[in-house]
Amino acid sequence: MECYHLAQKAVPDLLEHLKKIAPVYAPHQKGEKSYSFERVTHASEVVLDYNRTMLSLKKFFLPPTERLLQYSIQKQNVVEEEIKPEKRIFFGVHSYDMQAVLRLDHNMIEGHPEPNYILRRQDAIFIGISFEPDDYHFSRSVGIRVEEMEGFDLFLNKVDTNYYLFILNKEGSDLLKGFQKLKAVKDIVRFERNFKNKLKYHYNRIPEVFQHVYHSEVWQKVAERCVGCGTCNLMCPTCYCFDVMDDVALDVKSGERRRQWDGCMLTPFAEVAGGENFRDKYEQRTRHRVYRKFKYITDQEGVPWCVGCGRCTAFCPAGISLTDIVNNLIQDYENQQYAKTGVVA
Ligand code: SF4
Ligand code: SF4
Repeated sequence: MECYHLAQKAVPDLLEHLKKIAPVYAPHQKGEKSYSFERVTHASEVVLDYNRTMLSLKKFFLPPTERLLQYSIQKQNVVEEEIKPEKRIFFGVHSYDMQAVLRLDHNMIEGHPEPNYILRRQDAIFIGISFEPDDYHFSRSVGIRVEEMEGFDLFLNKVDTNYYLFILNKEGSDLLKGFQKLKAVKDIVRFERNFKNKLKYHYNRIPEVFQHVYHSEVWQKVAERCVGCGTCNLMCPTCYCFDVMDDVALDVKSGERRRQWDGCMLTPFAEVAGGENFRDKYEQRTRHRVYRKFKYITDQEGVPWCVGCGRCTAFCPAGISLTDIVNNLIQDYENQQYAKTGVVA
């Protein structure tokens, strides 16, 4: 792996260089404390010292809403939306968001491949960047280091005020052709970043905990504060549920089919014909959401389907913390084990 020194003042030049290759998307400040991946027009508007964007890169590959097709009875036709692959460079991506894209790839490509996702995703180039963990990040607890480089083509690791720039594959190397402002690094200084927010157990042990806490009181306690807004689902980079609906024109002769994000914390999600709802209580919905992140898919794939970005906690209007939920479940599990065996788990 080649590594170069990139001075902070050369980052705008690198962005300008990349813009000549393909459209570049990078974090921009949107409010006092919120950030969003947007297309770069002026390098000066890019913010690389950010904690997290409100929405992850998922919005580019699986948009919040999209038209799938239009139909007309008069014309006797159905016209599907045409999606063209587009080379795009995503600059300044944190490791947990890259890992979320890799998990989405699994969901969208394995089994029944989802063509719209694949077409939007296939030519994407990813340039990662390190981050300083805040009070909400806990990606280290789910096995994702700040400097995890899997999935990236280039990676910038901030050291003091400048960067190490790692070239991770041929695509990354090609991106830098003609860019002169790099100096080779001989001795790479390695250091670990500290996470304040942590899960109490190694993630390998968490599915075992979830075998014993389905009826835990923790779910009811969380439900007493939850307002069922669905923010935690809609901001989660690994949630991928959607709803498909037909909008029929008033003359009932034409219409369009749309897809939009849905979430298991929203009341209608598990509603079926006749008005029955399989998860009409907040506690059932919270339990389902958290089991999806730490048990159901994890049992099949061996890794948590939560990447520890902290969005669901940082943006929850009720101040509900996912790490508190899991750590309280671990405590409940330990109490159960102690009551059974007299031994601390
Ligand atoms: S964001 Fe918070 S309040 Fe809203 S559904 Fe999720 S846990 Fe409940
Ligand atoms: S469950 Fe929460 S912390 Fe985990 S990936 Fe989703 S939004 Fe991030």
